[in-house]
Amino acid sequence: MTQKAACHLDTQLCHAGLCTDEKTGAVSTPIYQTATFRHRGPGLSTGYNYSRTSNPTRGVLEQAMARLECGHAGFAFASGMAAVAAVTALLKPGDAFVASDDLYGGTYRYFEKFARPAGIRVSYADTSRSDLMREILSKEKIGALFIESPTNPIMKITDLRRISSYARANGAVTVVDNTFMSPLLQRPLLLGADIVIHSGTKFLAGHNDTLCGIVVTRTPRLSQRIAFVQNAAGGVLSPFDSWLVLRGLKTLAVRMDRSQANARRIAAWLCRHRRVTAVYFPGLAAHPGYALHKRQACGPGSIISFRMRNARMATAVVRRVKTISFAESLGGVETLITHPARQTHSDVPEQTRRCLGVTDDLLRLSVGIERCEDLIADLKNALE
Ligand code: PLP
Repeated sequence: MTQKAACHLDTQLCHAGLCTDEKTGAVSTPIYQTATFRHRGPGLSTGYNYSRTSNPTRGVLEQAMARLECGHAGFAFASGMAAVAAVTALLKPGDAFVASDDLYGGTYRYFEKFARPAGIRVSYADTSRSDLMREILSKEKIGALFIESPTNPIMKITDLRRISSYARANGAVTVVDNTFMSPLLQRPLLLGADIVIHSGTKFLAGHNDTLCGIVVTRTPRLSQRIAFVQNAAGGVLSPFDSWLVLRGLKTLAVRMDRSQANARRIAAWLCRHRRVTAVYFPGLAAHPGYALHKRQACGPGSIISFRMRNARMATAVVRRVKTISFAESLGGVETLITHPARQTHSDVPEQTRRCLGVTDDLLRLSVGIERCEDLIADLKNALE
């Protein structure tokens, strides 16, 4: 199926959590702020027993996410990292696990500090190179692939359909971190992936005020395994935060429209700036993954990485912005600028960062929904 049908998601998003409570007629899903549920007697559960296992408010968000990503089931966690941890828990000691080499620094840290010591054979590869991935997958049995597309922060694009099919032929599970795109722009399960994860903290919640992680699974078997981990390890999203994310989903389409339009203009403006030496944004025709991204996603999103002439200029920019906030995170209504080498990717060893191009001259912009003229004026002032 092509991703062109994504426009129809606008309505689904707007109606996420639309309540059908016959008794009260409430339009918004109630926040079931309860840890436990009373039973009328032995064997007479309402279906809810304890909120770590399931909670009605969280359940509405989980079902909405499963529908939006076209999966079998959704699971909401306390943060994106809790979602990454839950998916990694599917692996056993000795399993080989290959992740995109350019990856959110916290995910890299988790793989190195938790997965590797647990005996999982973690390695990294440039998943945007289909030939390389085919070779890796033909050489040995791989338990799972973990892909970001676009990658954080260099915005490399992986052919999700092709790599998922190679992985399936090898018996490997394909996991895609869809944080940068959201289901509005890209639906990896329709391209052949098995599991989608999100830092729901970003575009889904959308207001830089809530932490959240989401997992969506393609098959009942995977759903059962993630449900077990979610209940057993317990890193669940609270009822109130579930409600906040549901509220965020309702405006995702209009937020994304605006932030993406702003990002297109800002990327073009940065390309023309004499102090900027490179711009990484999949909406630019010169981006190496432009055509592929256009085939598998409905838009470039609103994250732009760019390189200043040197590290000193990059630090001057983050010091000088006023309308834009110098802060880590992305996908919220407010525009944020991040210095990946010092913030989000500081736990990636310097040598690895250098090989990937995550150096001190690199900045990452998460473009928000402000008036574009104000953002460009702020950047103009900061870059001069
Ligand atoms: N995945 C990506 C692509 C991210 O950018 C982040 C955080 O920045 C995460 C996962 C982790 O999410 P969280 O911060 O919600 O734990």
